[in-house]
Amino acid sequence: MLTSKAIYGRLIAAYGQPDWWPGSPCAIMITAILVQNTAWSNVEKTVAELGERLIPEYIDSLTEEELQPLIRSCGFYRAKARYIKALTAWFKGYSYQVEQVQAKTLLEVRQELLSLPGIGAETADAILTYAFRMPSFVLDAYTRRLLERLGYDFKTDDERRAFLTEGIEHSADMYGWYHWALLEHGKVRCGKKPKCDGCVFGEVCRLTD
Ligand code: SF4
Repeated sequence: MLTSKAIYGRLIAAYGQPDWWPGSPCAIMITAILVQNTAWSNVEKTVAELGERLIPEYIDSLTEEELQPLIRSCGFYRAKARYIKALTAWFKGYSYQVEQVQAKTLLEVRQELLSLPGIGAETADAILTYAFRMPSFVLDAYTRRLLERLGYDFKTDDERRAFLTEGIEHSADMYGWYHWALLEHGKVRCGKKPKCDGCVFGEVCRLTD
């Protein structure tokens, strides 16, 4: 069985240095909600249309009803407008200052995020890692599927997270890159219908036994 570090090494060998979630901390928070249940291309379109208005002060100045049409192309726009407004209001409690959020512990901020509407573990961990640079490994469906296909019988995300973070650098950079590389692999190859020919995990994967 591969170690977490070995999995990451193979991902880097296959896809190169991973990207990073684009945008300012505020943009990352908002796009982390917008991307729920929709394609990233829809998020990009919305971000392009919002342009320089993608700042918390502007979002705060809008009512939910005013925000809805601006994010319509991302789907579920009524619910997402409500979630974004709640998240922006939460950030306002920190005067929109990343440093003020970072002054709290990761667990405190995670709990606060999880208490907001529309924010589950995946979104909270993405916001923590990419917007606030507080390392909280993001676990998504692609990652769970890959680990299962590689033969790990983890039952919970806590077990998966413990495995993935063992033996690697505990930093937001590392966690963010690793998640991005897993995302890339899931999108390019290891989706519901995998394209296994030439995969870097070919000889250790259950599906190619
Ligand atoms: S061999 Fe196929 S199923 Fe296994 S990790 Fe690669 S793409 Fe996924």
